[in-house]
Amino acid sequence: MSTSTAHKQDPKTDHKLIDGRGVAMGIRDGVAKRIARLREANWQPRLVSLAVGAAEPAKLYIRNQRKVADKLGIEFDDRYYDESITREELLATIQALNADPSVTGIILQRPLPDHLPMKELQSAVHPLKDVEGMHPSSIGNIVYDDLVLGPCTAVAAVEMLKSTGLNLPGLEVVVVGHSVIVGKPIAFLLMSEGATVTVCHHMTRNLTVHSRRADAVFVAVGKPQLITGDMIKPGSALIDIGINQIEDEQGNTKVVGDADHDSCYDVAGWLTPVPGGVGPVTVSVLMQNVAKAAELQKRHYEREFGEADFVVSS
Ligand code: NAP
Repeated sequence: MSTSTAHKQDPKTDHKLIDGRGVAMGIRDGVAKRIARLREANWQPRLVSLAVGAAEPAKLYIRNQRKVADKLGIEFDDRYYDESITREELLATIQALNADPSVTGIILQRPLPDHLPMKELQSAVHPLKDVEGMHPSSIGNIVYDDLVLGPCTAVAAVEMLKSTGLNLPGLEVVVVGHSVIVGKPIAFLLMSEGATVTVCHHMTRNLTVHSRRADAVFVAVGKPQLITGDMIKPGSALIDIGINQIEDEQGNTKVVGDADHDSCYDVAGWLTPVPGGVGPVTVSVLMQNVAKAAELQKRHYEREFGEADFVVSS
């Protein structure tokens, strides 16, 4: 496997590379203003992260979330549980957080141990606190073309495509990978924007036939070098969502996406770097959801109890 790094351009100066950090900072600026307005109104957004038996990569990801939350004025409460926690105990924890008005967002960190049913636990999070956008009602909303709290990675990937300035209505897009958290929601979000979407998966007979005619390819599979330069149309956009740890020729561990960056760089009109592409935007979209969830809850409580009677502060 080639792991050459011939193209290590800086997204700030190389306009072929979509600058994830730049897109992320743009989103964060808007979020910071919304959080400041909420705090002025005595609504302190508070995010609770639940991790079970978290390994070091998950802990690193959580620390990064905390760093961004701290910068934005979001309270971040990270809780770690032993692998022995039962389904019932975790469900009760989520229900208590749902009922606590000082908690405005809940994240259930992935992966969970096998004995804990992800879908059931995700469905137990109150839809107004579902900042990951993974509750069935959040997914249902995007099918209805109504983006309330969208799944973070999918929204982030679509933001990356939008940042190219390509006109989405009528755009031919191929999405490779159809998982519930990434591929499927990307397809629905793009359909809402008017794109013509083809979704490919492991049973797709000839992936190249589809990917070569696309104006934009999204890939979220988890297989390094699945997409190579000869599989994409010259001048197209390539949004690489994959995160894979591989060993290079020197035995060093590095993170790569699902596309062979070097061969795709020569053909694509735009492409996302990995790391530094969709990843940082995903964290910003999560914080955007935290702001949106707190605004929705504020509106809900004001409707129920009247503006003057209900104040939540930390
Ligand atoms: P997943 O649940 O394992 O889904 C992978 C998808 O790829 C499945 O739909 C699978 O189809 C499809 N697939 C497998 N082999 C294929 C092939 N040869 N050709 C075409 N499609 C194929 O993974 P995921 O959670 O969606 O994550 C995908 C990647 O994105 C991973 O590398 C993950 O680390 C990364 N990710 C990144 C972020 C971020 O913030 N950047 C967030 C989440 C995930 P079948 O179901 O039909 O087998």
